[in-house]
Amino acid sequence: MASEKRLFGTFGVRRTANDVLTPEFASRLAACYGTLIQGKVAIGGDTRTTSPMLMNAITSGLLSSGCDVVNLGILPTPAVQYAVRNYYDGGIIVTASHNPPKYNGLKFVDEFGIGIPDDMEIKIEEMYFDKDPKRANWDEIGEIFNNDTIIEEYIDEALKSVDTKAIEEANLNVILDCGNGAGCYTAPYLIQKLKCNLTTLNCQADGFFPGREPEPIEENLGELIATVKELNADIGLAHDGDADRTICIDEKGNFVLGDKTFALVEKQMLKENGGGIIVTTVATSQAIYDIASEHNGEVIATAVGDLLVARELKESNGIFGGEENGGLIFPDFVYGRDAALTVAKILEIIAKEKKSLSELVEELPVYYSNKMKIECPDNEKKEVMENIVREVQETTDFKLDTTDGVKILKDDGWVIIRPSGTEPIFRCFSESDTQEKANEMTEWGISLVEKFKK
Ligand code: MG
Repeated sequence: MASEKRLFGTFGVRRTANDVLTPEFASRLAACYGTLIQGKVAIGGDTRTTSPMLMNAITSGLLSSGCDVVNLGILPTPAVQYAVRNYYDGGIIVTASHNPPKYNGLKFVDEFGIGIPDDMEIKIEEMYFDKDPKRANWDEIGEIFNNDTIIEEYIDEALKSVDTKAIEEANLNVILDCGNGAGCYTAPYLIQKLKCNLTTLNCQADGFFPGREPEPIEENLGELIATVKELNADIGLAHDGDADRTICIDEKGNFVLGDKTFALVEKQMLKENGGGIIVTTVATSQAIYDIASEHNGEVIATAVGDLLVARELKESNGIFGGEENGGLIFPDFVYGRDAALTVAKILEIIAKEKKSLSELVEELPVYYSNKMKIECPDNEKKEVMENIVREVQETTDFKLDTTDGVKILKDDGWVIIRPSGTEPIFRCFSESDTQEKANEMTEWGISLVEKFKK
């Protein structure tokens, strides 16, 4: 359970850098992880000013515990996950993903490149606070290696999964905004290899993130949207700070919501594979289910969290998965959200279908959604949750799904009410066939939390 953890959040440890997340802290935590791995650990980082400092600290911690370290340098999170899965025993990624520049974080992965499970996080915390990591003898200290070819290999492997010839022939005009993040080291090269006409924005790595904030939300992408319109481009693409998420702008300059991109790629993956298992979270659109039933697919929904989706994809041998925020997972390539293959797939879909991105999005099932949040102290969350479940069971005939919080399924839509794992709030999402109904359902969900909190 998230509430029992003392350091780890939904994926790793994220803090303000050099305040809580100091070299001493990072080194000891890495030594605790290294004590459990006892093998060859790959490390990589994003473009933040504090990444090299923390990478040196975790290198020392890992070597001290007796692990070898393979320094992959500055590169996207999924490129590290790719490398670990294929060559190493574990990995640590220094990144704060989409958070502002002053933050940094450590993401720990297992030998498959999947974020480590809860029980391992708890073991690391226990060792950090209550015991000590292994400190190897002088003659058992690990060694440092480099891998200078991993970025090129990662790009080339991503391209093997798409019809590169079709993309080349489509002669697409692409505007790419890496936001000065880790995507600068991969995305421009990938798109150039596909012979697209590429215009780049913010594709110089810079830990001050002078171009825009690292989170690829609409309000941060004004320059990209304007450039797509100005240059009559076919598509605009944006990544977050560690380049595991991709956001698309259509040829008219419209921001394409992450669940639309997910649905579009899902359709393509099901067509290519003649069906298969799709994994997502309980908070994802009904559109994912509609497309699956149309194309011989089956949907499995996990609790919210990209590493839960990745793990389920591995266990159920799924073909594709993702989240509503535009984090897409291609399990044959990387067991985590991957931006490189997402870009290649989207370009392939536009090229092969010979349609514009806005036309492709218009063909998808349409649902309306709403999101709200409400404050609630952490110590009341459990009781509030139990009371809501009882109330809904006693007063309605609606079906309930308690995979994560409670999802209440009505004939014309659903609402999910879930306690945040990191903040003293409840989040409430809903989806329906009209915006009005979606708004009403969210308000109802919020009213249930209000009714039972003190
Ligand atoms: Mg990210």
